[in-house]
Amino acid sequence: MHKIKVDYICKKIKLIIHMEVFKLLDIQKNTQNINIENVEKVKCLIIGSGPAGYTAAIYASRANLKPLLYTGLQMGGQLTITTDVDNYPGYPKGVTGPVMMEDFKAQSERFGTEIRFGIAIDSDFSGKTHKVTFDDNKIIEADSVIIATGATAKYLGLECETKYAGIGVSACATCDGFFYRGKDVCVVGGGDTAAEEATYLAGLCRKVYLIVRRDSLRASKAMQDKIFSKGNIEILWEHQVIDLYGENGVEGVNLVKKKGTPDEEIIKLKIDGFFLAIGHTPNSDVFKKYLETDTVGYIKTIPGTSKTNVTGVFAAGDVQDPYYRQAVTAAGSGCMAAIDAERYLSELK
Ligand code: FAD
Ligand code: NAP
Repeated sequence: MHKIKVDYICKKIKLIIHMEVFKLLDIQKNTQNINIENVEKVKCLIIGSGPAGYTAAIYASRANLKPLLYTGLQMGGQLTITTDVDNYPGYPKGVTGPVMMEDFKAQSERFGTEIRFGIAIDSDFSGKTHKVTFDDNKIIEADSVIIATGATAKYLGLECETKYAGIGVSACATCDGFFYRGKDVCVVGGGDTAAEEATYLAGLCRKVYLIVRRDSLRASKAMQDKIFSKGNIEILWEHQVIDLYGENGVEGVNLVKKKGTPDEEIIKLKIDGFFLAIGHTPNSDVFKKYLETDTVGYIKTIPGTSKTNVTGVFAAGDVQDPYYRQAVTAAGSGCMAAIDAERYLSELK
């Protein structure tokens, strides 16, 4: 009995020692995280490497702000997952998305932008200088911050969406609609974006099927009227996507009508293009503690500027644009953000 008690006490002491050692290691780890060597000070921090981020970098570096740009996971932004970009001025013969973004990068480097791979994981905009923590274990203390983290189109989460990405599946009618001139396409969604995409495609395509999961649209009355006025848009009410099929690209979609009801029916629909319009998610989570956003999460800027509600923090591109979401508008707002940052910094002196 006595031996068991001694063993028990020994084990308990060992456990306590272990826990204390772990605590100590944890403290060391935390101290390491805020080690002075991990803190860097810069005049201008740019987060994101899409058209908005790189354009901000071109302007900021030319204004001698010595910008530091973190690329995020998707180096070059959304355009790196597309093929032809035909609507960006300056490329009369068109250009592929990845090549165009390499051009953007090279131009920003030409004027001295420092580019680093890393993801912003936390922000602190409570003080005079703004702190952003990155997953490379660095805390960047910046006099000005330009947020250009873009937005991500929502997908249904089906395997076939990845399989046919770029060969029939798109989340941007303005970008890819051109490739489906005279063909049959479908648009999934029932909101304003879906209505807008369907209306746009109706001007190019032979037939547009709008696949709506409920028996009514979420889109505004004005947008609904536009859809109803187009003779080549057919709304498939209460339809949901099962999957896509096709040999070397999309050739059709399998749908289920009135799922879960006695009238449930499986439908095979021949189409050439499959457009998703079920909403976008702006990449603003890391900054939401301090920055005002709309209900969807788009960062609010003072109209006509890139200024957010926090002085010295600016937003550009899709992360603050629920409406246009184009490369050229993103680049334009990146330019605005760099000019706003430059003027803000010159007033600080
Ligand atoms: P993005 O291009 O989305 O770039 C965001 C950047 O932020 C990325 O580099 C990402 O890695 C980074 N980032 C995100 N989160 C973090 C974080 N936490 N930390 C650090 N970095 C982060 N527009 C056109 O004008 N013409 C077209 O032909 C066209 N085609 C398109 C095709 C497709 C398939 C898609 C999806 C979009 C297309 N668009 C097109 C729209 C266009 O791509 C966007 O409007 C544009 O890229 C937005 O630029 P941006 O700089 O705001 O953001
Ligand atoms: P939204 O209003 O959230 O609508 C998303 C649509 O997609 C809804 O119809 C929704 O169906 C459907 N949907 C969502 N997930 C789905 C799924 N898994 N399967 C099938 N359908 C799905 O998004 P949005 O249309 O992108 O609009 C976002 C905001 O921008 C809105 O405030 C909108 O008014 C605004 N906007 C305005 C204009 C304009 O004024 N011209 C243009 C574009 C966007 P349910 O209805 O069943 O939920």
